Amino acid sequence: MNTIENEDFNQKTVLVRVDFNVPLNDQFEVTDSTRIHAAKPTIETLVKSGAKCVLLTHLGRPKGPDPDLSLKHIVPEVSKILGQRVHFSEQTIGKQAVEMITNQAFGEVILMENLRFFSEETQGEKNFARALADLGDAYVNDAFGTAHRAHASTAIIADFFPKDKYFGMLLKGEVEAIQQVMETGKKPVLAIIGGAKVSSKLTILESLLDNIDDLIIGGGMVYTFIQAQGGSVGDSICEPDLKETALSLLEKATKKNVRVHLPIDVKIADAFDNEAQIKTAPVSEIPDNWMALDCGPKSLDSFGDVVRQAKTILWNGPLGVFEMERFAEGTIGLGKQIASSTAQGAYSLVGGGDSVAAVKRFGLENQMSYVSTGGGAMLESLEGKQLPGIAALLS
Ligand code: AMP
Repeated sequence: MNTIENEDFNQKTVLVRVDFNVPLNDQFEVTDSTRIHAAKPTIETLVKSGAKCVLLTHLGRPKGPDPDLSLKHIVPEVSKILGQRVHFSEQTIGKQAVEMITNQAFGEVILMENLRFFSEETQGEKNFARALADLGDAYVNDAFGTAHRAHASTAIIADFFPKDKYFGMLLKGEVEAIQQVMETGKKPVLAIIGGAKVSSKLTILESLLDNIDDLIIGGGMVYTFIQAQGGSVGDSICEPDLKETALSLLEKATKKNVRVHLPIDVKIADAFDNEAQIKTAPVSEIPDNWMALDCGPKSLDSFGDVVRQAKTILWNGPLGVFEMERFAEGTIGLGKQIASSTAQGAYSLVGGGDSVAAVKRFGLENQMSYVSTGGGAMLESLEGKQLPGIAALLS
């Protein structure tokens, strides 16, 4: 893996693909700057080593130039976070863009206009990638959030830097975190897969079975398994079409000596509503007109035993509808159990979408070993896929 830490970038113009696809409010202010903070170590390292940093990113999904999605809006926030003035180039590529970069001193940071103002970006068009490559002497990819896309700036551009292409520090951290779970994790390795549907997690479940010792299944996914085993799930979310798939997955797990843990009891409600009537029921005995929206106390206790003995923990997907306060207990409880195992020396990776939102919301982020910044990219990595953005740096 070619990384930036020990390279000399003095007097070099370095293109850094970052993921600054941040949310903006009506006043075009950044409302969550996590992604900018995440790229800071890479930018700082390059600046310290004497490089001129040219930042490339997309923002939103424009269909062409769109003033509302101009990167000029985020310049103040990026400047504030980096602690230095960030210059903005209204042109993304071309003569004026090159001139703008040439006119800045080494040690400066320049943010180029939104890559997705050009449809060639998402098409992975070679000439557009070449025009981007013409802006600098070296290429660093630090955009894990888009590493699963073969776009011009995330993958194709790397061909123009056969020797001078590098993993940024964030990208390296994400890759190492995945390796630490999927390849080199200390046993027993535990995966906790929750979330809404089995269908969206099927490939992950299949791919994980080769690398783990324990599997906790949580969230709305549970009821497809319970119904397939003959249980009554009432109005709980369920995918009856996947009955055979669910049963064959459990069989595969047994063959591979993976212990599968399903909830024992669940919190059920008479409506999908925070104000609904609530009671606890055994997971296989959910009455008609009731739906399970969280796991129950016995489930949480038994999950706790599994989490405590695990040395490596992957968590993807909440255990209940955590967005509603009264159905958040399972997810919070599990988060605390993982935090405590982590404090005892286990390695924990939280990745892929809603479990990341949950640990952030419940203030547990800093108690996990690693919280991924990439939703889709993390999910595809866990499915065992080689991401185009990473493959391009390794070829
Ligand atoms: P995913 O994006 O597949 O990880 O799913 C996350 C979503 O699953 C969250 O929005 C949760 O509210 C939802 N979820 C978790 N448990 C349940 C459940 N028992 N019934 C319905 N939705 C659930």
